[in-house]
Amino acid sequence: MDIIVVMKPGASDEDVHRVMNRIGELSLTPHLSRGAHRTIVGAMGEQTPRIREQLEQLPGVDQIMAVTDPHKLASREFHEADTIFTAKGVRIGGPYVSIIAGPCAIESRAVLFDVGAIVKNAGAAILRGGAFKPRTSPYTFQGMGIEGLEILKEAGDRLGMPTITEVMDPRDVGTVCEYTDILQIGARNMQNFNLLMEVGQVDKPVLIKRGMAATTTDLLMSAEYVLSRGNHRVILCERGIRTFSSDVRFTLDVSAVPVLQERCHLPVFVDPSHAAGKRDLVPPLALAGIAAGASGALIEVHSCPDRALCDGPQAVLPQRFDELMEQIRQVAQIIGNRVNAPVDPAMEDDADNTVPWSGVKSDVRTVDKDPRIRLRGNHA
Ligand code: PEP
Ligand code: MN
Repeated sequence: MDIIVVMKPGASDEDVHRVMNRIGELSLTPHLSRGAHRTIVGAMGEQTPRIREQLEQLPGVDQIMAVTDPHKLASREFHEADTIFTAKGVRIGGPYVSIIAGPCAIESRAVLFDVGAIVKNAGAAILRGGAFKPRTSPYTFQGMGIEGLEILKEAGDRLGMPTITEVMDPRDVGTVCEYTDILQIGARNMQNFNLLMEVGQVDKPVLIKRGMAATTTDLLMSAEYVLSRGNHRVILCERGIRTFSSDVRFTLDVSAVPVLQERCHLPVFVDPSHAAGKRDLVPPLALAGIAAGASGALIEVHSCPDRALCDGPQAVLPQRFDELMEQIRQVAQIIGNRVNAPVDPAMEDDADNTVPWSGVKSDVRTVDKDPRIRLRGNHA
């Protein structure tokens, strides 16, 4: 069983380094979680019999605990406070609600620039658009590939928005990283373990969609693949599961939001668009997800959906998206969350409630001084 080493409140950086080095010497992998209140070092791998005794004696060590959750690094045992990170100035996680919006696919420069400007003006934080599309039929539009990625990057730069796009093939991860700020793992690839391990090694946040027939535990284990490879910037996204309902494309499992938040510290988003399949159902489902406490929503928008090459029927029209953003702001406020300004470069330097850690490469900041940020068992 894996263990975590809980450091004393006053433990020095040197103490923490010593513990990490010792864990490494014991042929285990150390993982650091540094919070405002306490620092934890996880020791993952095959344990030797005397390891507890050995680590217990090191200066600065408070106690050694066994990790019981199978999703060790994603669990609140390992990292109690909500994980919050930034992507190009947009704060993601905890009480910061960020809306991802844009067309399903990058269809042309004109469409992406048009829809991009619309969603940005309405207050969306992150621009989406697929260049590699996972289509049920091999005969439908498969995406623009690299040409699409170039357009996405240009649009993101021009609009000052971070971008997200799906990567389907482990061989494309390096290339896709050159063009986008956040990688998306689609529902159909949630258990493509080679792909998960590949994105676990890059320096970009990864949004993982829940598979349509996957449990929340399956989703957490997929996140674990990414975390265990060293990428701690993971977003979980509920996008609808298969049920007996034929009224909607998939059933948005709103309960997955608080369930996942209870069990793990990662940001949880909802995708009402792929769940609903119909544009009129998207706003109420988006609001339900935000009301349930999601840190964001992914919403497909199109200015001319009857001409869209992919997912036109579920694309929200510009006017409705504008109204929806206002409703999202109001609902978020009621539960004590707040919608991000589209881009605020100052956030990157906001050291007030972040805990930078210089000794180990990690982009994850814990913000557990902020009373709005949930700790385990403290859910509204
Ligand atoms: C998408 O976001 O366009 C998409 C294909 O989503 P999913 O993987 O959830 O079907
Ligand atoms: Mn789509």
